[in-house]
Amino acid sequence: MNITKSPLNYTAIVNRLRAAGCVFAEDEADLLISTCGTPAELAAMIESRVAGSPLEHVIGWAEFCGLRIAVDSGVFVPRHRTEFLVRQAADLARSSTTVVDMCCGSGALGVALVAALDWSELHAVDIDPAAVRCARRNVTGVGGYVYEGDLFKPLPPRLQGRVDILIANTPYVPTESIKLLPQEARIHEARVALDGGADGLDIQRRVASAAPHWLAPGGHLLVETSERQAPQTAEIFAQNGLTTRVARCDELDATVVIGR
Ligand code: GLN
Repeated sequence: MNITKSPLNYTAIVNRLRAAGCVFAEDEADLLISTCGTPAELAAMIESRVAGSPLEHVIGWAEFCGLRIAVDSGVFVPRHRTEFLVRQAADLARSSTTVVDMCCGSGALGVALVAALDWSELHAVDIDPAAVRCARRNVTGVGGYVYEGDLFKPLPPRLQGRVDILIANTPYVPTESIKLLPQEARIHEARVALDGGADGLDIQRRVASAAPHWLAPGGHLLVETSERQAPQTAEIFAQNGLTTRVARCDELDATVVIGR
């Protein structure tokens, strides 16, 4: 919107955001101003941000791997740390690649990965209807497919034994630790995207037990986990016959377990 960036308006917005705890208040003010359509919309966006909604939900998109990914309210916001998983996956991909993005949320990982590859086919799955709706907006742009359902269940059987890269940012927060997450995640993101059961690894166990059936010979599985949980995640994959290694990115505070 072409809002007059009058010092009064602008300063008032920045101060409002800063008072609400937004560290990068000026950047956020610029984003809100450039995204809104009308002054009324801008006012509503500021209110929603001040009330604690993640910035990405307020503006409707997140920047991920240099791409603009649509993120609807309630849907998990892709974290910058997960860009590390995408980079690792891109390094392992061959020229023609079938990619599955399991627990895809907005579809950010799959979209960013296929955008980095020459030729690939993307299949993204999530159990949460809101995530699936959001993923469709993103994945359709790269010619991929989105399925709603529980892990591998909705995937076309023709993919069995044919998946070259399986990427998954599964929920991995132990149920008891959900209450320790920042309010933005706890209240505004789907719990199903975060809660990994008693030790946080329930979904990873289920992915690991089915994955060997779907991976192509020489295919890879890449799962984000926390640094603390990484040895257990690696063990879970090893128990299912996968050779594993742990990759850590200091700069982004990210840990990925890679199996093949
Ligand atoms: N605590 C993690 C985060 O907020 C949870 C991610 C996940 O469960 N996939 O990024």
